[in-house]
Amino acid sequence: MNRVASFPLLDELQRALADIDAQGLRRGRLAVQRRHGPRLVIDGVEYLAFCSNDYLGLADHPALVAAVREGAGRYGVGAGASHLISGHSEAHHCLEQALAEFVGLPAALLFSTGYMANLAVVTTLAGRGDAVFADRLNHASLNDAALLSRAELYRYPHRDLETLERQLGHVRGRGRVVVTDAVFSMDGDVAPLPDLLALCERYDAWLVVDDAHGFGVLGPGGRGTLAHFGLCSPRIVYVGTLGKAAGVFGAFVAGHAVVIDMLVQRARTYLYTTALPPLIAHALLTSLELIRSADDRRARLFRHIARLRSRWNAGPWKLMESATAIQPLVVGDNARACAASRALARRGFLVPAIRPPTVPQGTARLRISLSAAHAEEEVDRLIEAVAQARAELAASRQAEA
Ligand code: PMP
Repeated sequence: MNRVASFPLLDELQRALADIDAQGLRRGRLAVQRRHGPRLVIDGVEYLAFCSNDYLGLADHPALVAAVREGAGRYGVGAGASHLISGHSEAHHCLEQALAEFVGLPAALLFSTGYMANLAVVTTLAGRGDAVFADRLNHASLNDAALLSRAELYRYPHRDLETLERQLGHVRGRGRVVVTDAVFSMDGDVAPLPDLLALCERYDAWLVVDDAHGFGVLGPGGRGTLAHFGLCSPRIVYVGTLGKAAGVFGAFVAGHAVVIDMLVQRARTYLYTTALPPLIAHALLTSLELIRSADDRRARLFRHIARLRSRWNAGPWKLMESATAIQPLVVGDNARACAASRALARRGFLVPAIRPPTVPQGTARLRISLSAAHAEEEVDRLIEAVAQARAELAASRQAEA
């Protein structure tokens, strides 16, 4: 490798990295060598993962693996172009129709990722002079989308409808878009969607619902959080992701046909990017069938959630209030959260620490996520391992004191 002498721009980055280190916020990556359900092999060691979004355990389902092979046989590997050139396939088309019908909305449009879908929706519905209202705990992609739209961004405290209503009243006469996670990704709680929709009706605003963590899991048949609440309205624009419970990759936006038509015309993350590989769309058609008939998997997942919460015995480490597969355990201090994660890894469990800026300062946490792929006995072992990790950390603290 060519050795490049240090130069001021690089020094600046190095100082910034040192700063990240000093705050205990340096992030790293793990290279998974093999996986079988929630069991991951890393550096030759097998771990039981409680950190994936594969909530139904579909990501390595044999029917999906076979569908990927079949899709590759039919379409090849890459789409080769964007949707509006020649990248759009029959598989994309059929999947869009199936997804719209599944979530009970008139039309749907596929995107490569949820991040891109969120950028597309918010920048299409809002522009300079408009106002976007966002729950403070929304996913980063929704905040980035609002910034990119050049609309004014109002962030309201988590689930604080009074503040939201005040903000909506404050900007009468401009285009208004309320954006919210349906299931908050780092807390696991569910947004008050019926109340949000009522406010949007009162103030004539769009309601953008990011159901990354509800699609496939919540609602009858896994139809998502709108179905869970029985909501339907032409002012709702729904975003579902397909790399989590669906077990594959991708995302979609569903809503009124006019909204979908406009996205096709205007959304830059749709227009200026290579289409999702058709083999992925082909596999997702199978995934949707699996989701439809996965009541047993959803029931198992909800039994695991109830079991974890009812048997929890990690003393002062309390689980946050959550009835979904996301069960965060707030540790508080960044270094302690990392130490807890390492203590669990030594016991064979993968539960990464989530630190600022992903979560607010002082609320570093272990984000436990459960899957139908876990066995009951594995949930019990996790509970035991967390209790041991906590005791180990408390003992080392006492020894230091
Ligand atoms: N929205 C939420 C709430 C998410 O948690 C995520 C992913 N973590 C996304 C959007 C982005 O989805 P994708 O991974 O498909 O880009």
